[in-house]
Amino acid sequence: MPHLNTVDKLAILADAAKYDASCASSGARKRNSKGTRGIGSTEGMGICHSYAPDGRCISLLKVLLTNYCQYDCLYCVNRVSSNVRRARFGAEELAKLTLEFYKRNYIEGLFLSSGIMKSPDYTMEQMVEVARLLREEHHFQGYIHLKTIPDAAPELLEAAGRYADRLSINVELPSRSSLGRLAPEKNASRIRQAMASVRLKLDEKKEKSRHRNPRAIKATGQSTQMIVGADASDDRKILTTSASLYAGYKLRRVYYSAFSPTPHPSSKLPPQPPPLKREHRLYQADWLLRFYGFELDEILAGGDDGMLDLEVDPKLAWALKHPERFPMDINRAARDELLRVPGLGTRSVSAILKARRLGTLRLDEVARLTTSIAKVRPFIVTRDWRPSRALESASLRAQLARPPEQGDLFT
Ligand code: SF4
Repeated sequence: MPHLNTVDKLAILADAAKYDASCASSGARKRNSKGTRGIGSTEGMGICHSYAPDGRCISLLKVLLTNYCQYDCLYCVNRVSSNVRRARFGAEELAKLTLEFYKRNYIEGLFLSSGIMKSPDYTMEQMVEVARLLREEHHFQGYIHLKTIPDAAPELLEAAGRYADRLSINVELPSRSSLGRLAPEKNASRIRQAMASVRLKLDEKKEKSRHRNPRAIKATGQSTQMIVGADASDDRKILTTSASLYAGYKLRRVYYSAFSPTPHPSSKLPPQPPPLKREHRLYQADWLLRFYGFELDEILAGGDDGMLDLEVDPKLAWALKHPERFPMDINRAARDELLRVPGLGTRSVSAILKARRLGTLRLDEVARLTTSIAKVRPFIVTRDWRPSRALESASLRAQLARPPEQGDLFT
């Protein structure tokens, strides 16, 4: 194998990490200080964006420790049977690289995942070692997200939690049978056991940290990723799985990652990726379930046959099927009703509730509290506004739907 320097390795291992959506780039404005008097950049190899526990958007070095892997998950470009260039960082090498990037203000933290080398325990040990070196030897105060290996020993998962801010374990596919078919070495029960073990440690954390136990887990949450469109699971199955994961393991996030065909794909996989819009609609539905008081059946009733409507967002799809609920009086409706108005987010609803304590609201006042009054207007009544005719679904749908766009997942 040719000798690779750190930059060569970074090019390979940052590229290999881009298929993991659980450190999602969030459409942040691209910035680069090159040629300016400023410092820092949001571009470049392996830089992605994620959210810290306090809600700040942060840039992370997103990289694999290695893309060697002895498993053969058919949907993964790094599987053992894949013909890709391989590379591996040493623990100290990656810790130093992270520090260099951090000092230059390129990143605020590290997102680290890995292929399975030798054994799950060995791989997890190496990943923990990177985090340990950063925290204990280099006193790194930045953010660390470790993608943990479900088959690794519980002590190693616990050690990972002592150094990382966030842990994630990929559930990978929505159904156990799909996982067995497409990722034969993985085991759905062990993945869930690992999630349960991390959950338990997170629950114990509060108690231990109250007594200032230095060995207490520091991580503040766990998340997971599901691949969309690699198997035949419909949106109902995906969202049902998410709901059980949120409820069972108190996950911070489920990330949805549209399946991306790899070179020389298996015949067990679809030849085409799903529409990227599907991934987007799943995120919107996930949000409605968690923060807007919607039931899964209500959301799915907006689409057909267990699939979300790709043309319009799930809240709008639901509203168009329930004209009897609209128009809603913005000055009288309760919070949970306002949250059902298309175009009103949780912040807008809070702002409206606050503003109406001072008097009844006009349309222009509501407009100042929302991001798109054009979307909201057909569904509301204000002091000076009432839609001229009853909500007419077909024309409204045509007016509010934008044609689905298909873009590249990682551009
Ligand atoms: S374990 Fe599976 S998904 Fe993870 S790197 Fe290896 S082949 Fe890819």
